[in-house]
Amino acid sequence: MEVLHALDSQVLIGLAAALIAIVAGAVFLFSSRKPASRACLDPEKFKEFKLVKRTKLSHNVAKFTFILPKPDSILGLPIGQHLSCRGKDGQGEEVIKSYTPTTLDSDVGYFELVIKMYPQGRMSHHFREMRIGDYLAVKGPKGRFKYQPGQVHAFGMLAGGSGITPMYQVARAILENPNDKTKVHLIYANVTLEDILLKEELDLLAKRYPDRFKIYYVLNQPPEVWDGGVGFVSKEMIKAHCPAPAADIKILRCGPPPMNKAMGDHLDALGYSAEMQFQF
Ligand SMILES: Cc1cc2nc3c(=O)[nH]c(=O)nc-3n(C[C@H](O)[C@H](O)[C@H](O)COP(=O)(O)OP(=O)(O)OC[C@H]3O[C@@H](n4cnc5c(N)ncnc54)[C@H](O)[C@@H]3O)c2cc1C
Repeated sequence: MEVLHALDSQVLIGLAAALIAIVAGAVFLFSSRKPASRACLDPEKFKEFKLVKRTKLSHNVAKFTFILPKPDSILGLPIGQHLSCRGKDGQGEEVIKSYTPTTLDSDVGYFELVIKMYPQGRMSHHFREMRIGDYLAVKGPKGRFKYQPGQVHAFGMLAGGSGITPMYQVARAILENPNDKTKVHLIYANVTLEDILLKEELDLLAKRYPDRFKIYYVLNQPPEVWDGGVGFVSKEMIKAHCPAPAADIKILRCGPPPMNKAMGDHLDALGYSAEMQFQF
């Protein structure tokens, strides 16, 4: 009888141990599928990502698609942050520059960069030379700006040329979140109509979210028929198309250095405090 009793306890202990093992295994499996562990970036170390597609968008702009290690991997880049990309210039010297993907973490298994390649640009040279199957060294996340839904009531955005990519990332994240009611007012400056990056994507967002997203294009050399702004972005344009200074708004800017400087001066003159401004 005592032997049977001892056997019973042993079986019970065995069952309990098996149950604990199953529960622990399930917890481990579940936790290993959390988004954070699917993220691929390392802020301290460059990691290599394979180029799988290159799409020409204009004579000097291309979209580069990079694959992530697993089909369910995500880049893990907070909204408002960017990547450091490392390459070699025409002289073979190392160069590191910032880029913002046009994809979000909701785009699983890959990420995309839209790159404007300048004839004399050092990192531009690296991207111009990249072929399918090549690897790009990427480090991140990087940046002082992190977007949280409800952070502000409205954003004004002043973008020039390739400075549109951080704006597009933030605008997409806001607009595609049905619980986020933030309004976005974009002024986007370029030289010619052909220079406008992501135009189709931007126009689609404006069409889909007409109450929350407004775009005002400004061209230095407009076509004959043109209903947008002409010349450089002026104080009057900012006044007419961006939210007025207030504690619950922010004006973001990203463009070539002379434009950033001019926009900073305009915003100061219009009464936007330092807290209401952010330069990427
Ligand atoms: C947060 C952030 C995000 C960015 N995201 C992107 C992105 O997604 N896609 C992208 O293409 N770029 C982006 N940029 C710009 C990018 O970091 C580089 O500055 C750009 O690619 C030029 O680098 P380069 O080494 O080729 O040129 P450089 O060697 O630095 O410059 C050489 C010459 O190129 C020309 N040039 C360089 N930059 C500009 C410019 N902005 N406007 C006009 N002429 C210029 C000038 O004639 C300059 O003399 C971003 C910048 C920041 C700060």
